[in-house]
Amino acid sequence: MTFETLGLSAEILRAISDQGYTEPTPIQKQAIPVVLEGRDILAGAQTGTGKTAGFTLPLLQRLSKQNRDNKKRKIRALILTPTRELAAQVQQSIRIYGKYLPFRANVVFGGVKIGPQISKLQRGVDILVATPGRLLDHIEQKTVDLSGIEILVLDEADRMLDMGFIRDIRKILSLLPDKRQNLLFSATFSDPIKKLADNLLHSPVLIEVARKNTTAERVKQTVYLVDKSRKRELLTSLIKLEKWYQVLVFTRTKHGADRLARQLTCEQITTAAIHGNKSQKQRTQALDAFKKNKVQVLVATDIAARGLDIEQLPHVVNYELPNIPEDYVHRIGRTGRAGNEGEAVSLICVDEKKLLQDIERLINKRIPREVIEGFEPDPAIKAEPNRNKKRQQSAKKKIGHFDQTKRSRRNNRYRNSQRPVNSSSSNRSQVQKVK
Ligand code: AMP
Repeated sequence: MTFETLGLSAEILRAISDQGYTEPTPIQKQAIPVVLEGRDILAGAQTGTGKTAGFTLPLLQRLSKQNRDNKKRKIRALILTPTRELAAQVQQSIRIYGKYLPFRANVVFGGVKIGPQISKLQRGVDILVATPGRLLDHIEQKTVDLSGIEILVLDEADRMLDMGFIRDIRKILSLLPDKRQNLLFSATFSDPIKKLADNLLHSPVLIEVARKNTTAERVKQTVYLVDKSRKRELLTSLIKLEKWYQVLVFTRTKHGADRLARQLTCEQITTAAIHGNKSQKQRTQALDAFKKNKVQVLVATDIAARGLDIEQLPHVVNYELPNIPEDYVHRIGRTGRAGNEGEAVSLICVDEKKLLQDIERLINKRIPREVIEGFEPDPAIKAEPNRNKKRQQSAKKKIGHFDQTKRSRRNNRYRNSQRPVNSSSSNRSQVQKVK
């Protein structure tokens, strides 16, 4: 099957060919014809499968086929994403795929000034990519008009729910015209996602290119057993000896990410960190330097890394396992993208064995364990399972608290806004494994 046989227009085919794509990916083969027909879809596609083009290409085509009201430019397609980085990348994709079409695509996300976004919205936009929180800010300030939406895309919906955006999403949905096409993309199908889909989609076509909760098949996964106090040393030797030139390393906390980035820099490994406490400018700069191979290592927390699209990223390291098993799937989905091979390595200390079991239960697969010579774990060190339990509980509490405060703040602002204005594959021989 080729892009031509999918029924895409000449302008879109030209843009695809400029990108050098020769064949649609499985999600594109399935999604494009269905979206072109105007049907709703519920798509289970992992990141890296080409899902962005899977919805962007037919969306562009549908907008160009349907006549728009020429009097005033209204937003006709809305794409919601969980993170700023993903929003920026989706907008970039729309620009690339729509470069021979007359549409104006814009992006709004938090962490940057709202003023310039308002000016752009005022100039008129056809396609808006947004994170839910900042979109609500615009709604509250009445700087965005969603009454002309014909197509809604929820990208990485599972992550939006994980991040506590469900109320925001519901509010946004309540402001959209009833008659519209809905496309829901999610890496996993949890019960809340099914519930959202039931309320949102009309006779959707179910598209699933990867089995639910499975990890990208092209990713080689390995666990290295090591003492916690020696993880940094092991990471440094893996990077140096195996000559890893582009490594995305995950830590559990922002503080941990900063500390590790500093330590690696001291070891002469160029490193940047990306997490929620960094400004949008710092995040963009770090990502850019990493993409251009100006820094060898990018240390990231889960939320900051969501949606990163770095082509041919060869190595992902879990310096610490995530507390939420689904995050492991998202993390390792950063490698092995678009048909490339990738390697995901997890450095596991004795405290993390329970987390590892939870992950293996989720992905339904045992990840091979290895021990590197010189880094054998000390059998005298006993697990402190409570430590992780406590962390998990406190993480849950924190997420709950964050959602609660953020939500109630937003709810208040939202309520206020509703009032009338007047009322106010590496060289293995280098590192010796212990059999
Ligand atoms: P996504 O899953 O949308 O994040 O896409 C992952 C990567 O696949 C992006 O870097 C795209 O540029 C690339 N990609 C998308 N479609 C194709 C295709 N048909 N052939 C080759 N690469 C593609």
